[in-house]
Amino acid sequence: MNEYDSNRILDLIKKIKYEPTQNLNEANCYILNTCHIREKATDKVFHEIGRLKKKFRNKPKPIVLIAGCVAQAEGDILLKREKYIDAVIGPQSYHKINDTISKLEKQLSPIDVTEFDVIEKFDSFNTYKNTDNKISSFLTIQEGCDKFCKFCVVPYTRGPEYSRSSTELIMEANQLVENGAREIILLGQNVNAYNYKENKLSDLILEISKIKNLKRIRYTTSHPKDFTEDLIEIHKNCKKLMPLIHLPVQSGSNKILEAMNRKHTVEEYLKICKKLLKINPEIKFSSDFIVGYPGETKDDFKNTIKLVNQIGFINSFSFMFSARPGTPAYDLVRVDESEAKNRLIKFQSIAEDIKTSYRKSLINKTVNVLFENSMKKENRYFGRDEHFNAVIVQSKQDLTGKIKNVKIIKGNQNTLYGEITLNLDQTNYAA
Ligand code: SAM
Ligand code: SF4
Repeated sequence: MNEYDSNRILDLIKKIKYEPTQNLNEANCYILNTCHIREKATDKVFHEIGRLKKKFRNKPKPIVLIAGCVAQAEGDILLKREKYIDAVIGPQSYHKINDTISKLEKQLSPIDVTEFDVIEKFDSFNTYKNTDNKISSFLTIQEGCDKFCKFCVVPYTRGPEYSRSSTELIMEANQLVENGAREIILLGQNVNAYNYKENKLSDLILEISKIKNLKRIRYTTSHPKDFTEDLIEIHKNCKKLMPLIHLPVQSGSNKILEAMNRKHTVEEYLKICKKLLKINPEIKFSSDFIVGYPGETKDDFKNTIKLVNQIGFINSFSFMFSARPGTPAYDLVRVDESEAKNRLIKFQSIAEDIKTSYRKSLINKTVNVLFENSMKKENRYFGRDEHFNAVIVQSKQDLTGKIKNVKIIKGNQNTLYGEITLNLDQTNYAA
């Protein structure tokens, strides 16, 4: 979502004649977009500012703006501690960025813009054309969260759940496709909580899938509590919807899920996976896990490992519990740090083994790849298969924006390498 936000910020500041630069030395305005989900986020900001100060030691300083959730949660601390920062701007106030920069151009005195104005923000995003021209484009459809998991800062930094108008989203999706997008990834902190005047995520997917030149749709991140029957069904009815579902479970222990206030059980989670697999056995899952949550015993951890083996997630994103100030879990008695670290190492080694054997199983198989761009090395193209695996092939023909059948020859943990077999662009992708 920060990538999407950064691109919208770029769209906005172009309006006041700012252009991106690859050369930090020549910047006269520096915007750092930040994430606050785990510890050390604020330290990273101070570290970055230190780096910037060195670059500009013998030159007039640029305007320095800190955007994103660190600005929202700790903006006052940033402004107090680091005089080099001119303004902090929270994620729901980006539409005020030009105004803020204009003020700073006239006079550098600290500005704090951290109100929650989500409706106004998206109204201002809508008036600009998406200019990134990417084959795979993000589209934020929902923001914020009302779930209040006890470990998480999102409800405090992004605010309450808000769904954008479906009419506007369909317009924006059309615009993305006109600008070259062939895949749209619908984004939201809880994307499947999307609900605009009774229009749910499944309704929106169906509408967007009618866009002629759009070939693929994905959505992330889903919450098990909102994985309703209509969303499961849409995986049967919409062929453009890709068969990889990122569905964070966090833990395989019901006791820990309850302590986290996750509002779902392991059994409910398994039921969703089972129903989806019944509809399409090609569906694969990826997930997020928190290891060492306060109160997690060795048995709770074993249950998490059991779940990972049972589902065989093709990608597992795992984090050691990070106590975030202001969240209810902050004051809970923590699992011993070295024990938590050992559990994370064990978890990651098991998750990697599962991933390795999955990736090995792809060798000599044929996958459908949507190519996104050419690479620096001559005649090489980068794309993703239906399960979002990165694939590289060699081709003399420009493959950008095309879907091809690729036979996988070899691979490592991050990339698969293959060769093109049959062209798939003629496939009937009708919804
Ligand atoms: N809304 C999604 C859900 O319900 O699972 C997750 C969104 S959250 C921005 C992304 C991931 O960060 C979470 O799934 C969780 O695994 C991780 N995370 C969030 N807060 C954390 C914390 N305090 N410590 C460790 N990991 C955390
Ligand atoms: Fe955070 Fe996701 Fe829980 Fe919301 S549902 S509080 S975003 S982890």
